[in-house]
Amino acid sequence: MERGVSDPERNGFPGVLLYGEFADPLNERLRYSVSLTESALSVRRISASPDRTNKAVFHLSDCVGCRAHRAQDGADVGAYFTAYFYPLKRRWMSAGVTRQRVEQCFRVAPGQDPLVNLREAERWAHAVRDAAELQAPRREGVTYTELRRPCRTMILVNPHSGRGQALQLFTGHIQGMLKEASVPYKLFITEHQNHARELVRKADLSQWDALVIMSGDGLLFEVINGLMEREDWQEAIQIPLGILPGGSGNALAASVHHYSKSPPAWNEELLLSCGFMLCKGLVGSLDLVSIRLASKQRLFSFLSLAWGFVADVDIESEKYRHVGAIRFLMGTLVRLASLRVYQGRLAYLPVKEAPKPPRGSTNANHPPSTPQHPSLCSSLPCQLIPKNSPKQSSRHGGIGTNSNRNTIANSSSSAITNKRPETQNDNETAAAADSLLPDLDQPVPEGWTVVKEEDFVLVLAIYQSHLAEDLWTVPGAMADDGLIHLFYVTAGISRPALLRLFLAMERGAHLACGCPHLVYEKVKALRLEPTSPQGMITVDGEMVEYGPVQAQIHPSMARLICG
Ligand code: ADP
Ligand code: MG
Repeated sequence: MERGVSDPERNGFPGVLLYGEFADPLNERLRYSVSLTESALSVRRISASPDRTNKAVFHLSDCVGCRAHRAQDGADVGAYFTAYFYPLKRRWMSAGVTRQRVEQCFRVAPGQDPLVNLREAERWAHAVRDAAELQAPRREGVTYTELRRPCRTMILVNPHSGRGQALQLFTGHIQGMLKEASVPYKLFITEHQNHARELVRKADLSQWDALVIMSGDGLLFEVINGLMEREDWQEAIQIPLGILPGGSGNALAASVHHYSKSPPAWNEELLLSCGFMLCKGLVGSLDLVSIRLASKQRLFSFLSLAWGFVADVDIESEKYRHVGAIRFLMGTLVRLASLRVYQGRLAYLPVKEAPKPPRGSTNANHPPSTPQHPSLCSSLPCQLIPKNSPKQSSRHGGIGTNSNRNTIANSSSSAITNKRPETQNDNETAAAADSLLPDLDQPVPEGWTVVKEEDFVLVLAIYQSHLAEDLWTVPGAMADDGLIHLFYVTAGISRPALLRLFLAMERGAHLACGCPHLVYEKVKALRLEPTSPQGMITVDGEMVEYGPVQAQIHPSMARLICG
């Protein structure tokens, strides 16, 4: 007889919520004693010989769901409950660990009445689900909310993202997991660019508890901007957003996985990890960055603003998208061969409270912010890119006439505005106003730093840890750290040195290379004014209009499903 009892002191195990003895679904003679505690489901094989106890412990923090069901065979009076776990397990034939699916099914038959048996199986399934919900893997110091249950989920899939397999990846890896976790969802397959943007702009959001994107970063960029274009944007942008990597550029998915403190994962393993987080249903905050273009267009960005090398690689590597994420490496090598220098002016509002490291420190989290002596560069041969002669920077308005990389703090500087800049658009409410940004034709305000150099190889403002699945760009970044992490590389860097930076970035070690051309600053706002007549600027990997651009952080403006 299979039975469940709820004596908390059963078998002398304090803390046991439920205890039962059940049969193996495939072999009635194999029997297990099963106990549920707040944190685990423990299964012990009942054996005649006391030596063969065979105990397995399944942690509820790895459990996405549990379902009760009748036997498929109508003659079977027994009922069943199945719990679904995704524990971290050693990879087959390779180093490291990754989440792998484990299912535990038990036959419940305390009596001959199928309904009574089903009720007992349901009682167990319910108890396991409830305990598992409370056992999501949380990180210390992070405030989470939880997704509503059941979480009515709108899932947007771009069938052309990545290698064109997003839909197959969804069906193969995520659909079953969502069923196991009892997540009700509706799939929306995008038909063209900006389709997702239109869908979320018009959607009745009261029908949904989460918006999930199965694509690369480009589709989430559409969705966030669609939400921000709504009249009820303040409420709309609060809907929890989830990301399932299906593109070639899966920077947010890689970042979210990294924030969860899980060991590195790529491709399907990364997808499984993000699917797992969606099922566990923890929600954190996500900073957004407001981007202002010369045409007065305003965009919201969750990942990056790039100009020069990074933007060129992103857009030029589109033609290799059939190879997946490796397209960025191919693009990097091609662009390195024809490396160019980009002229422009850069200014930013630094974060003052950021602790400065001791001189000469190479701490990756707090790297030196001023260029270091070239001798710190490693011993690879340095083939210098010809550096164009610096241009004179004075032009009407713009960043200002102060061309030193100094903070503007002196009232005699022509670059000062004493007033706090007002928002550019009257119908914006205070919450979305860019209080740090003046109009683009005004000089940058007091307290900003104007970069002396005007010849760059790249400028990259990034607000997540990863720029791509294998580019760990900001070792200390968090989704809600309230910071824009600004990197720039000045002209004069050799091709090998630049390649070395990108290779080191795979391990998050580029800041420790001591490259004198790489500068890193934590900032709240920035302005970039390209003066090269042609070039590319990308926001979250999507090309935007080329020209002056400025940006400011809006801390915790959106919400992100994470773990
Ligand atoms: P990837 O990482 O592979 O580039 P993205 O999610 O970034 O994937 O999508 C690439 C581009 O495709 C984005 O500009 C997005 O807006 C666009 N897009 C979305 N849906 C479609 C579609 N159905 N057909 C064509 N392009 C689309
Ligand atoms: Mg993309």
